[in-house]
Amino acid sequence: MDTLLRAINEPETVRVIAATTTAAVREACRRQGATHVSAIALGRALTCGVLLATLAKGERERVRVQVIGGGPVGQVIIDAHGDGRVRACLEQILPRQHLANRMLDEEPRPSVAVAVGVRGSLTVTRDLGLATPYQGSVELRSGELDDDLEHYLITSEQLPSALRAAVILDASGQVLRAAGVLAQSFPGSDPALIDGVRARLLGLRASLAGHERSPAELVGLALDGQAARPMVEHPVEFHCSCGPQRALSVLSVLGPADLEALADEREQTEIACNFCGEVTAVAAAQIRALATELRASQN
Ligand SMILES: [Zn+2]
Repeated sequence: MDTLLRAINEPETVRVIAATTTAAVREACRRQGATHVSAIALGRALTCGVLLATLAKGERERVRVQVIGGGPVGQVIIDAHGDGRVRACLEQILPRQHLANRMLDEEPRPSVAVAVGVRGSLTVTRDLGLATPYQGSVELRSGELDDDLEHYLITSEQLPSALRAAVILDASGQVLRAAGVLAQSFPGSDPALIDGVRARLLGLRASLAGHERSPAELVGLALDGQAARPMVEHPVEFHCSCGPQRALSVLSVLGPADLEALADEREQTEIACNFCGEVTAVAAAQIRALATELRASQN
């Protein structure tokens, strides 16, 4: 089972969050048909999502991330909850023969920048259950997703951070293992602390290559074996909250005139969810009702 562990080092200068995400990433990839570079991008996105939704103590925390990099996968969307439920999607899944898949042998790790794109922005909406969600945005630094989100944490949230996600594929391009680590130092601590953690996390992929690692082992990697106190541990799971309501909100962007035309054209319209692939059928009568509702709200 996938697990997230929050821990703190003994001098209480760095908090480390480690998560194993193999099952959740496999599930997202299975549902979206993602393999090869698409699987790595989706896996990194999902893994970073669960790690990011750990700022508050409460389970009501929710983090949404939108990455627009101009690459062939289009937008990357992440939606994570503080209790470990997470979903992520790529706007486009790249076909097997795509150029980006040929660049997966790169060292020290496969690059997803060719797929995600390198010119664009990343926006994070952090909902801590307070009146107004916090939103911050940065330009992409590398298109590698974890690196861009680390850049976001440092510049927009101004927290000294090291963030790394790793997705290991088998020979057929399917996900074998996935995990990630986020470390943040407390205000006033030596900046070299987090630099040290960041340097050690470069070895995350190598450490996962041969074995599954527990979150406690990943914390150990980040802290170079230094003693750490486990704080909270909870499961991580792929979860999609879509349903009829979400299908209607997707349709509502069409506007009343197009909705009425659509309702005249077919008995029912099927809307597939980008995150989980589930198809919701919306009847013509519901679409007409939505058009009427939209017209009323425009007047
Ligand atoms: Zn869904």
